[in-house]
Amino acid sequence: MTGRVIDGVKLAATIREDVAARAAVLTTKGVKPGLAVILVGQDPASQVYVRNKVAACEKAGLHSVLEQYPADMTQEALLSRIETLNSDHRIHGILVQLPLPKHIDSHRVIETISAQKDVDGFHVSNAGLLMTGTPLFRPCTPYGVMKMLESEDVVLRGAVAVIVGASNIVGKPMAMLLQAAGATVTICNSKTRDLAWHTRHADIVVVATGKPGMVTGDMIKPGAIVIDVGINRGADGKLCGDVDYASVKEVAGAITPVPGGVGPMTIAMLLVNTIEAAERAQLLSRSR
Ligand code: NDP
Repeated sequence: MTGRVIDGVKLAATIREDVAARAAVLTTKGVKPGLAVILVGQDPASQVYVRNKVAACEKAGLHSVLEQYPADMTQEALLSRIETLNSDHRIHGILVQLPLPKHIDSHRVIETISAQKDVDGFHVSNAGLLMTGTPLFRPCTPYGVMKMLESEDVVLRGAVAVIVGASNIVGKPMAMLLQAAGATVTICNSKTRDLAWHTRHADIVVVATGKPGMVTGDMIKPGAIVIDVGINRGADGKLCGDVDYASVKEVAGAITPVPGGVGPMTIAMLLVNTIEAAERAQLLSRSR
């Protein structure tokens, strides 16, 4: 068996078109959806990510502001800048690119972003809302994965889903979304005993560890859906995922490639979260 390739570029393009149409409607109502992206320091990968996010915003007709600060920016200055953006009515979404320099407390920074503008969905209030089944913002990467599963008509109700990786930004919110959709979910981490036992029992495997090629074909049940969230730079300088694509593709029912899988979906869902924030703000201003 050779698995279908789930095309994240194509699906993301459809979602971005929808965002552009919604942005055009809002703009005619006098609200131009706005996203502020803050980057502190010169991390090359982060620079690429923020540039891609800003370019995607512009293309969809959203207003975007990229603020770049030196690595020695103080925490106080960053918090103060976020507070100013919190009260700027032209900005509906605020994203602070992680990781931040070591002297800055990321948790404090995320908690300073208004929960209503937290388009990454990392604020503790948004994590709580997701956990209790009433999400305001879904974190972009797991939200994108859900859209991919939906596009493949994957039946989630009653499915066995195994998530490899338990981070706050991918693994844990992924588990919440799958569980809310009716899947039976296991979250594995670096201490999990016999990881392959878990993955071999899964109908859906989502891998987000940052360990290149760690999930191999022999760890996958024939026909399972495999979603590779990982973005790593291989020894040859090329991008690769956390899944060993060649061996898993031979066994899986469907698989996401890297690049061209989850990555483009993450950006598309950032635009979705921003447009939703702007639509909510517009409704709120009408009701005043
Ligand atoms: P983190 O480093 O925050 O978390 C990694 C998780 O993987 C941890 O829970 C860790 O376990 C677990 N883990 C590590 N090694 C193993 C192992 N051998 N077996 C089982 N679990 C393991 O990573 P992120 O979640 O931030 O990112 C993961 C990957 O996804 C990275 O490659 C990142 O670049 C990529 N990414 C891609 C995005 C996209 O848009 N496509 C967006 C965000 C991330 P423990 O808790 O025990 O330490």
